[in-house]
Amino acid sequence: MSASPSPVWHAFTQHGLGEEIPLIDRAAGATLYGADGRAWIDAISSWWVITHGHCEPRIQAAIRAQTDRLDQLIFAGWTHEPAETLARGLIAMAPAGLAHVFFSDSGSTSVEVALKMALGYWLNRGEPRHRILVLEHGYHGDTIGAMSVGERGVYNRAYQPLLFDVGTIPFPAEGREQATLDALEAACRGADRPAAFILEPLVLGAGGMMMYGPQVLAAMRAICAAHGVLFILDEVMTGWGRTGTTFACEQAGIAPDILCLSKGLTGGALPLAATLATPAIFEAHLSPDRGRMFFHSSSYTANPVACAAANANLAIWREEPVADRIAALAAMQAERLAALDGRGRIRAKRRTGTIAAMEFVEEGSDYLSAIGPRLNAFFRDRGLLLRPMGNVVYILPPYCITAGELDRIYTAIEEAAEWIGRE
Ligand SMILES: *Cc1c(COP(=O)(O)O)cnc(C)c1O
Repeated sequence: MSASPSPVWHAFTQHGLGEEIPLIDRAAGATLYGADGRAWIDAISSWWVITHGHCEPRIQAAIRAQTDRLDQLIFAGWTHEPAETLARGLIAMAPAGLAHVFFSDSGSTSVEVALKMALGYWLNRGEPRHRILVLEHGYHGDTIGAMSVGERGVYNRAYQPLLFDVGTIPFPAEGREQATLDALEAACRGADRPAAFILEPLVLGAGGMMMYGPQVLAAMRAICAAHGVLFILDEVMTGWGRTGTTFACEQAGIAPDILCLSKGLTGGALPLAATLATPAIFEAHLSPDRGRMFFHSSSYTANPVACAAANANLAIWREEPVADRIAALAAMQAERLAALDGRGRIRAKRRTGTIAAMEFVEEGSDYLSAIGPRLNAFFRDRGLLLRPMGNVVYILPPYCITAGELDRIYTAIEEAAEWIGRE
């Protein structure tokens, strides 16, 4: 092979550590195949995007068919059938009350769009508001606006002077839910009236798979509704079945004013995002005055090939027993997690739907603690893509994963618990 170093600058990677960067050639189901003949079980769905499995045949066929018809189209004032079909399909699937779909290309942009919609809503109503409430430990992406509404830490230290101020509501840890609700109530009543509250429902993904229940989600929604504060749900990770229902908010029996979707929207095959909004938010921008339109676009907004992939994903949800597969995976996760014996090294085992998580005990561990990369390498050497966040190990697999593959993952986790500290 070539001796010159790769010019690729990888995402969230410290190249100075010289860690191995496997070269993947192809993927199918829950397996990644290396160019050198090795294989890995994709236990984190390639960073939470792959839902049904890699190279899902119906999605791949839809992509191939669309590439021969229409590759790309300006979406300002022009439209195409895949986007029209997808928007109708999303409204039919989404919680009641959401009636308009704005397309973009990533989870971060779906959040930027949501924040801009909320601010535009208030300005166009002649009642400008700019304050955004956020949930402690939240994550909404890596662009400046998305970082502003996310947890501050080492990962955004260099940019902090540019991040805008927000009101942070404490995470509703078990037993402390009332403190969260009280803080939200106080923030909504405050003199500086908030424009919106943005949060991830039931599971805070990048915050470390932190989980809370549907009752407190419903209560937070009710407080915002009572005070006229827009409720933005970021279901970029939780959407498409991860938490056991198509969207996490269904479990609380609620609908947001604005809903952010991405990751599993195309089954994970192509980048695409959608921000769904209520008629009130759309209508606040509706006017013969061009100055009141929604000023947002990205070049690849509603790319036809990505929309075709998403339409195939929606067809799978409508026509195949996806809910049964998710329920079966959730049950397998529950069983393996309960049986997991980390001999004292593993604590805080938790699960919501198909997502299982736990913490590895080591003194003074945080996101940058050395345990993460060590575990990462340990799992990689055992044929697993299982990339911990700090000391949090989580299993978030594609829904096609087999019982045998799941057993291999849990066996490796038990071995890691034995190995850590003894290396
Ligand atoms: C991944 C993620 C995002 C950002 O999505 P990108 O496609 O990586 O920009 C936003 N919100 C949540 C909850 C996420 O998990």
